Amino acid sequence: MNRQKIVAGNWKMHKTLEESQALISEVRGIVRDEYRGEGKVVLIPTFLALPSAVRLLEGSGLLVGSQNAHQEDQGAFTGEISAGMLKSLGIQYCLVGHSERRQYFGETNEVCALKVKSVIRHGMKPIFCIGETLEQRESKQYFRAIEEQIVQGLFHLDRKEFAEVVVAYEPVWAIGTGLNASPEQAQEIHAYIRKLLANQYNEEIASTTSILYGGSVKPENAAALFMQADIDGGLIGGASLKARDFIDIVKAMR
Ligand code: PEP
Repeated sequence: MNRQKIVAGNWKMHKTLEESQALISEVRGIVRDEYRGEGKVVLIPTFLALPSAVRLLEGSGLLVGSQNAHQEDQGAFTGEISAGMLKSLGIQYCLVGHSERRQYFGETNEVCALKVKSVIRHGMKPIFCIGETLEQRESKQYFRAIEEQIVQGLFHLDRKEFAEVVVAYEPVWAIGTGLNASPEQAQEIHAYIRKLLANQYNEEIASTTSILYGGSVKPENAAALFMQADIDGGLIGGASLKARDFIDIVKAMR
C-alpha cells in the first residue's frame, strides 16, 4: 500500500499580496532547510496570491492549490474563476466543498459534484472536503452524514477520475475552534471512508487514496493524528499562517 502523504495549508481570506509573498518565501526556505521526507507540501493562498505562489515556488517541490473554482468553464458568473483558468496559471490542487463554502456560500453536494468533475477535467486534483456538524456528531448521525457527502459529491466519478481525488475529513465542529477530533475518532472515520471507496470502486483505489484530516491541527497534535493507519496528512487552516507552526506540522508527516 503506497499512499501519498500530503500537508496542505489553507490560508482562507488572510494576508495581503505582500504578506502572502513573504510567507510563501519563508515557508519555502524552511521546508528546504528542514524537511527531508517524501510528503507533498501544498500552499493554498487567496486567488490574489496564486500567480506569486506559482512563481516563488517554482523548482522548490512545493505545490500550489486554489481555495475554490467555479464549475463552469466560462460565462456570466461575476466574481468567479474557473478550473481551466487556474490550470493555465500552473495550479495543481483545488479545494472543493470546504465547510465554509458549504455554510456561507450555499454549496450543495450537487454543486460540489460538478466542481470536482471540472477540476479533474482540467488536469488538477480536487481536495474534496467532508465532515459532520456538531449536531450530527452528538446525535450519532455522523457516519450517515459522511456517506451522503461522499456518495453525492464523488461517486459520479469513474475509477480513472477518482484516482485524482484527495479526500479531506474535516469535522465542522473542529474547524477553527481549537477542538480537534481525537486520533481515534479521526481514524474511525478515515477507515470508514476507505471502506466506502472499496465498496464503490475497488480495494486498490481505497488503499491508494490519500485521506487527510483537518480541524485544529497544531504542531502539538499533528504527529498523533498522522500516526493513525488511515490518516495520510492534514489540511491545515489557522496553523498554516505561521511558518514555524506549519513546518512543524509538515515534519510530523512520516
Ligand atoms: C480548514 O480550514 O480546513 C481548517 C482545518 O482550519 P483550522 O486548522 O483552523 O481548524
